[in-house]
Amino acid sequence: MISATQQIICPRCKQDYVIKVVVKIDGEVMQICPECDACWKYEDHILFETFNTFQNYARKNTISSTWDQVQVIEESFPQPKERMI
Ligand SMILES: [Zn+2]
Repeated sequence: MISATQQIICPRCKQDYVIKVVVKIDGEVMQICPECDACWKYEDHILFETFNTFQNYARKNTISSTWDQVQVIEESFPQPKERMI
């Protein structure tokens, strides 16, 4: 099967693919590395220079930084240049 989507290796740890999740409490879509918890906003390009940590994000939004706060919605998705923003 030909897929238009492409998985992106986490540029921080290079150990896992970045996945797309929605934060349950506010519905914000984030891109997260399950391995090292690096995260990016949906509209951000996934670059080492721009990563935040999920712990940081959770603290700012006063939620606990656990995986039950988010729901995985896509395990692969188009590169930013191919996405409709
Ligand atoms: Zn990572």
